[in-house]
Formats: sequence, C-alpha cells, structure tokens
Amino acid sequence: MPKLTNHPNRTSWIGYSQDSHFPIQNIPFGVFLTRENVITIGTRIGDHAIDLGALQELGYFDNVPLTDDMFMQDTLNDFISDGKKTWRLVRNRIGEIFNKENAELRDHKEHRNRIIFHIDDVEMQLPVQIGDYTDFYSSKEHATNVGTMFRDPENALLPNWLHMPVAYHGRSSSIVPSGIPIHRPQGQQLPKDSDTPVFGPSNSLDFELEMAFITTDANNLGQPIPVEKAEDFIFGMVLFNDWSARDIQKWEYAPLGPFLGKNFASSMSPWIVTMDALEPFRCAGPEPEQPVMDYLKQNGKKSFDIHLEVDITPENGKPTTVSKSNFKHLYWSMSQQLAHHTINGCRVISGDMMGSGTISGPTADSYGSMLELSWGGEKPVKLNDGSERKFINDQDTVTMRGYCHNGPIRIGFGEVKNKILPVYQSKSKPKTIK
Ligand code: CA
Repeated sequence: MPKLTNHPNRTSWIGYSQDSHFPIQNIPFGVFLTRENVITIGTRIGDHAIDLGALQELGYFDNVPLTDDMFMQDTLNDFISDGKKTWRLVRNRIGEIFNKENAELRDHKEHRNRIIFHIDDVEMQLPVQIGDYTDFYSSKEHATNVGTMFRDPENALLPNWLHMPVAYHGRSSSIVPSGIPIHRPQGQQLPKDSDTPVFGPSNSLDFELEMAFITTDANNLGQPIPVEKAEDFIFGMVLFNDWSARDIQKWEYAPLGPFLGKNFASSMSPWIVTMDALEPFRCAGPEPEQPVMDYLKQNGKKSFDIHLEVDITPENGKPTTVSKSNFKHLYWSMSQQLAHHTINGCRVISGDMMGSGTISGPTADSYGSMLELSWGGEKPVKLNDGSERKFINDQDTVTMRGYCHNGPIRIGFGEVKNKILPVYQSKSKPKTIK
C-alpha cells in the first residue's frame, strides 16, 4: 500500500512554518484533554491538535473499516492492536482530509470548530496504557563510557555486549508524559571511601537521552519474532528520558541490576511518530564489530537519522544545550532488540514500550547523560548563566528534542520536558490504623 502522506510536495490547508516538527507528512498519534474535559485520540498538524474521535463521529472515516468507537478512547492500545494496515489507512485518510486542495472539511466551519484546537488549548496525556517497559543498553559509546568510569578502561565493555542487545525490565507505572514535574528520589547510597551506606536525597540525579518504540501485539507465548519481520510490529517512536539516580544505582545494582535508581520516573514525548513517517530517514547503523548469531542477522538499513538535543534550564533562567546526539549511533537496531527480546518466547503486546538505552555519540558533546558529560563529576558542565552542573539540581528543567531533516521536510517528535522538584514532602499525616 503506498504511503501517500509522505510525499514531500503535499501541503495542508492548516498553515505551519517550515521548521515545524509536525508537517502534514508526519501525522503522529496522541491522546489529549480538551478545555471541555473531553479526552480523545488525536493527531497534530503544525500547532493544531485534531480530534480524531470527532472526525470519526462526523463521518470522515466512513470509508475506513474501523470499530465505531476506535478514537473515542483514552488510550491508543486498541488502535495499535488493529495493526499496520489500519494505521496506514487512517494516516492516508488524515493526509487526504487535510490536503490543501480538499474542501470537505476545509470549507465546513462548524465541523472545523468541533475538530481542530490550538495546541495550547489541549493537555497532552500518556498516549498508551503501557503494559511492560523494557530498557535496552544499545549505545556502544555509552556502555564504553560507563564501563570505563566504573570498572576498567581496558575492558570497558562486558563480554556479552557485542553478542546481544543487553536489557532489563523497567517499571511502566512510573512513566509520565512531558510536562509532569518529577520529585528527586531518595534512598540508600554508599559514600565514597566508606563501607557503611547512608540514606538521603540522591546527589547525582541524571537524565538519559533515549528514544523508545511502542509495539503492537506481536506473538504468542513461546513464539520468537524473526529479526526481518520485527519492524511490522513497531507502531512508532517517542523521545524518552530515563531519569536515573546514579548514587542509588551504584550501591544497589549488584547482582540483579537497576531497581530504585531507575524506577522512580521516566518521561516520554506525547506524540507517537509512526514508522511510516520515519521511512524517508532510514539509514544504516554502525557496522557490527563481531559476527552476530543467526537470529540477530539483519539486512538493509535498519537505523534512522534522528537528530537529538538536550537542554538544561535553571529556574527563571535561559536554556543551555548540553548535548547533541543522533539515534543512528545505536549499535543494536530496534529489529535486533525485538528479535532478542522474544527469542526465548517472551510475549510482546500492544502498548509495550522498549527504551533504546542512553544514546551517546562518539564526541564529548554528544554524550547522552550528565554522568558522561561531566565525566562522573570530574568536569562540571558550564551553563549560559555561569553556573555549573555535575548532575541535575532541584528546579532545573531538562528538555529533549528530536527531529529528522531531509531537504524541505522536517519530521519531529516535539519535546519531552520535565522539571525536577525537591524530595517529596507529605502534606498530610500518615494514616493511622484504628
Ligand atoms: Ca536507561
């Protein structure tokens, strides 16, 4: 089926600037709350949110086979579950409705008023009910930097790293959308040169620049997904900040891996950009440095050229861009991650989310975490206001942006932006049991 919406000459009767992340070629999917407190599935063109529930109710999807309430829901899970054929039919139909030449909605003021909102007038929600969240560790540069700092520069990569996309299971209950403030976590830490742990607020709260993909129902229990088919089960991608407390992480991680240093919060951008929208930006990832097992062997271009940036903004201050990286640096592709995840028969369903792992590039200004940018606190990062950061302070806001760029067309993810608040203080007394 042709992907009509991607054509670079297509324009919309909804105006937007050339550097918008959301031209008519994007058509991402999200969930938003209107000022009337109506929650709906939607898409976005330029600075306008489009209510797909209202579009369906008014008959604009009558020629697309959909269940009646497909878009009048508060998550995208059922839509994602319907599979790639439906995603394409809907995306193509939206492209058609908002195409510059198409008068059916353009010239129908009453319908337009019910369907289109300015982006500032809606509140973005989590777009999916996330079933399970898995976080990979697929940037060789990141794994090498962390291994160099914490273990041994000569053997920075652990022996398994070049043989498999290493991962751990995270916690979906702590995933929040852009805009939700996050409290600094507290917990056990082992001070330097001490053998007795202490308790307190994390002193090394960090971001991790990641992207994540969201899956559809992919397999039955026991059934591996072949690497060459894996992309068929990926609905789309988001920006992902996998917040990390390095001091808590360092003390707790042996022998079972990350736990409370990771599961207090992760944040995601609210618009899911489909793999079809990203197709023109496909590129090759790094060449494998060692042969991989057959189930991980892939052909063709399996990565995507997605520019990534991170800003830190102090309270009442101006943003400083502290990192510029790219998704294409990742050593293991999403296809390899999904093939590896299911090779043992693990089930993957609609709404599952897989984080890429911190996306660090080869240069010191392309590292995807403060741990690496400040090299474990040895080289503090200077902000525009003259202040320095080893890690993230209370009241700092961390913003991640991502976009693909090719000639006149920019396909973007918007941003994921969250402020750090001090450790949570209970306002009410703990409940006493009578
Ligand atoms: Ca991570």
